[in-house]
Formats: sequence, C-alpha cells, structure tokens
Amino acid sequence: MKFPGISFSLPDWLTDFLAKSEEIVFPSASQRMECVVGLASGNIEHGTGGPFGAGVFDKDGRLIAPGVNLVVSGNCSILHAEIVAIILTQQKLGRYDIGDGGKYRYELVTSTEPCAMCFGAIPWSGVSSVVCGARDEDARRIGFDEGPKPEDWAAALNVRGIQVTKDILRQQAVAVLESYSNMGGALYNSGPNDAIHS
Ligand SMILES: [Zn+2]
Repeated sequence: MKFPGISFSLPDWLTDFLAKSEEIVFPSASQRMECVVGLASGNIEHGTGGPFGAGVFDKDGRLIAPGVNLVVSGNCSILHAEIVAIILTQQKLGRYDIGDGGKYRYELVTSTEPCAMCFGAIPWSGVSSVVCGARDEDARRIGFDEGPKPEDWAAALNVRGIQVTKDILRQQAVAVLESYSNMGGALYNSGPNDAIHS
C-alpha cells in the first residue's frame, strides 16, 4: 500500500511577500506583530485560509519564515500559522531544533495566541520566545475552539525557559478576526464540539 508524501506550499501572494521581506528587519516587537497581522489579513483577503498569521524571527528581528493558516487548502488540521512558520524555519535552517541547543535565540510571533496544539509544539520547536497579538478569548468569540491548554499556559512555557509576551497590537489582530467573522469565513474545529464553542 502506498501513501502520499507530505508537502504544502505557501500561497503565491505570500511567496512574493517573502521575496521582499527576506532582506527586511523588523527591530521592534510591534513591527514584527504588524508583519504577521498583515499575513493574517492577506490570508483572508486572498481567500487562502483562516485569519491567522505567524513568523519566526532571529534576534535582530529578521524574518526567517512566515506562516499562515493552511488547514483548508492543505487538507491538514495541523497546518496552523505557527506550525507552518516553525516547519519552514526548521527546513530553512536545516535543523529540527531551531535554537540549536540554546545557541541561538529565535522568536515566534503569532497574530493570535497559540491553541492547545501549537502550545504543545512550541517547546519542541526550539524557539526561545513567543509574542502574541489577539487572545484565546478573542478567537473563541468568533467561534474558533482553542482547545484544552493549561490556564496559565504562558507560565508553563516560562518554566521551560520560553518567554511569552501578550497583547502586542491586540486590537489590530482582533480586527482581522472580526473581518473574517463578518465575511462568514469557515470555522474548522476539533470535531462535533458545538457545545464547547457555542
Ligand atoms: Zn494552533
């Protein structure tokens, strides 16, 4: 029995964005957040996925790899923006541990705070910090289910040496979620869980 190989591609509009951004440095956390909120916004404007964007940046604020939500287009429930950015960074750097055993510091910036799955993936990715825009409750308000994660998930990452910063450009990030909701965008959650996110 033969099974398909695994591959996914960034949307064309984002590939163009990446070509321009490779030389661009985003020195401040708010500039990096503006970048990933722009990715989230682009993803819904171009109809290529959900209202979520992310990116991994090096210590100087250089974008290593972007991510957008590709769950629907990729027929893959794990292709959240954070996971896409992490995978692309690992492939680009040629190592599964982005920080290479703590030698380098990389930051994951995400337009909405990580769901249960992405929270779980972060310690294994090798990033040393996470910066979030919209909150879990903002995503849930428009119908997305963020899944079961520890109430103080940021503290759980801190224990593992991963610093978390919340609420960077939260309003702009929430505006993208609300635009998606107003457009009637598809919700894709963990099975028949209407009771959880109603
Ligand atoms: Zn996620």
